Amino acid sequence: MVRITLPDGSVKEFASAPTAGEVAASIGAGLAKSALGARVSLNATAGELVDLSHRIDQDAKVAIITAKNRDGTVSPDALYLLRHSCAHIMAEAIGRIFPGVQLVYGPPLETNFYYDMAFPEGKAMSTDDFEKVEAEMAKIVAENRPFTRYDLPIDQGMAKLQSEGSKFKLDNAQRAVDAGSTALSWYATGEPGKNWEDLCRGPHVPATGKIGAFKVLSLASSYWKGDEKLDRLTRVYGTAFATKEELESYNKLQDEAKRRDHRVLGKQLRLFHIDEMVGQGLILWTPKGSIVRNELQNFIGNELRRQGYFQVYTPHIGKLDLYRTSGHFPYYRESQYPPIVEHDEMARLASEGCTCGELSNRMASGEIDGYMLKPMNCPHHIRIFASEPRSYRDMPVRLAEFGTVYRWEQSGEIGGMTRVRGFTQDDAHLFVREDQIAEEVLGCLSIVKLIFGTLGMHDYRVRVGLRDPDSAKYVGDSANWDKAEAACRNAAATLGVPYSEEPGEAAFYGPKIDFVVKDVIGRSWQLGTVQVDYNLPIRFDLSYAGADNKTHRPVMIHRAPFGSMERFVGVLIEHFAGAFPCWLNPEQVRVLPISEKSADYANELLAALKAKGIRATVDHGNDRVQAKIKVAAEEKIPYMAVVGPRDAEGRVVSVRTRGSMTPEGANLGEMPFDAFVAGIAAEIEQRLLSGAPGTVQANLTKPV
Ligand SMILES: [Zn+2]
Ligand SMILES: [Zn+2]
Repeated sequence: MVRITLPDGSVKEFASAPTAGEVAASIGAGLAKSALGARVSLNATAGELVDLSHRIDQDAKVAIITAKNRDGTVSPDALYLLRHSCAHIMAEAIGRIFPGVQLVYGPPLETNFYYDMAFPEGKAMSTDDFEKVEAEMAKIVAENRPFTRYDLPIDQGMAKLQSEGSKFKLDNAQRAVDAGSTALSWYATGEPGKNWEDLCRGPHVPATGKIGAFKVLSLASSYWKGDEKLDRLTRVYGTAFATKEELESYNKLQDEAKRRDHRVLGKQLRLFHIDEMVGQGLILWTPKGSIVRNELQNFIGNELRRQGYFQVYTPHIGKLDLYRTSGHFPYYRESQYPPIVEHDEMARLASEGCTCGELSNRMASGEIDGYMLKPMNCPHHIRIFASEPRSYRDMPVRLAEFGTVYRWEQSGEIGGMTRVRGFTQDDAHLFVREDQIAEEVLGCLSIVKLIFGTLGMHDYRVRVGLRDPDSAKYVGDSANWDKAEAACRNAAATLGVPYSEEPGEAAFYGPKIDFVVKDVIGRSWQLGTVQVDYNLPIRFDLSYAGADNKTHRPVMIHRAPFGSMERFVGVLIEHFAGAFPCWLNPEQVRVLPISEKSADYANELLAALKAKGIRATVDHGNDRVQAKIKVAAEEKIPYMAVVGPRDAEGRVVSVRTRGSMTPEGANLGEMPFDAFVAGIAAEIEQRLLSGAPGTVQANLTKPV
């Protein structure tokens, strides 16, 4: 007897082990028809996604997966099944067009899927082939072939792969075996032995006809296992949905995303530059981008000072020994630039004929010291804390720095401002007493709330990473962990946004809070973190004198809630589609004289704006004012002040704004000279969002 508990709590009993499909059929014929897969859990966990053909041989909770959840929302599990299944269909289609193509790895992702492939010598797929591939895919979908799973014992499975001769699939299989798999599984798109098949763990939708809509999206190059030294591969992206409507809204979103792409806008608005001569993944902040960054840093910095943080500055390098103590070296060598060796040491090693390999080993073992570009700011801040005796009265010590760090990212993974090799964190380290953790974590989150609120990013969520209750890998005693976890949880609850508790997601050294913000078009961006740390204070033997005159160990909190200035500004460019609120915009007002006759009045306005610290310019060019307006709107200048002889006479300005709908912006009407200057200054001072109550735009735009 197998007892199956359904999501509504009801229980169904089966005389012998049912398949997930049979469970669906026992609930209703309609459900059996629309079912795509099932989620089966044997204990309290979220359970495992399985095929409908999966046999459930013990009591379990079973949820049948259909395209939509009961509340009408799209089921992520359904999308996973559809996309993974579509990856198989796409691979089969590409195999028909490019015989001999070898398949490597093809996972479903949040909004799409890809398949890494090795094309035969001299053959390559291009975007011109997409139509052909999609036509072949459409045939496979129309045939509505079942996805049929079969399993082979390891030795037989490996022998089969050997004979087929794909080193990629052999490697995938070997990794599955190393990870503890006791059999290897294949999925045939149809009948095993007769139709196309792929080594695969599954699960899949029951048949190809379940794919309602699909699209081949793009091509990228990748490397086997992400390693540049291994085979160069082609990554083919596609996506799939249950319905055509879902695909259409996805396409619309993609167009919108393209319009907001910070790499394109960054160039167009001259906010940043990446220069091959300087190096990949190294951002050059141009004057305009630097203004945006500086405004943000001032805003964040002011809040930190208000909360009692001290600003510090530390160098970009530190000795290897420092990172050996912190544990960053040599363990994370792959994600760092190689160390720097001193002149004398280098000369001595050269005279000994020391090879690069030896040098690297001797550095790793600590026999030779050198310097490293800092991968983290924490060790430097720790040494500042340790540089003087501390008492319980000094705590917490809060050290903040916009600190630049360097990490080695594979070149294939670099792009724009969001994946870089050098970046400046909005970093701070708090050295606190155990009893201060709760309040300090709360303080960290209040800054997050303020800054996200000011930027109009109301849609964000928070993840609280907690211990895995079954693991013993954690540093620090359990009672303290309980308190720190409660502190993180309580602080997260104060934000008034959804937060999830994620057991097992804490670092071994402490619980943490992560921020994921959704931009206006619904894409999620992982930003920064607040992290409690019991470990580094031990590694650096940090202490303070307690009220009891004994030595106590502080706890550290690392916090960089916005991640890095590069990433944050990249996200903001996309969030605002380049149209920053006035306070952040590189140029805040452009004065546009209608003709030379108004040049003096334009200059007078410019001087008045500048006297208030407003970033303004005058376009004294000979173009007609309409052309000047168009240029300013394209440059996304928040306000244009058009001035002609009549304006000068009446001491007014004709105000325009960049319009999001029209290329020439919107005409807001007239405003007295002084009121305009004061209005802009107030809007900047209060850091208002474009169009928010209190802005010049809102004051002038009267509803009809
Ligand atoms: Zn698969
Ligand atoms: Zn840190």
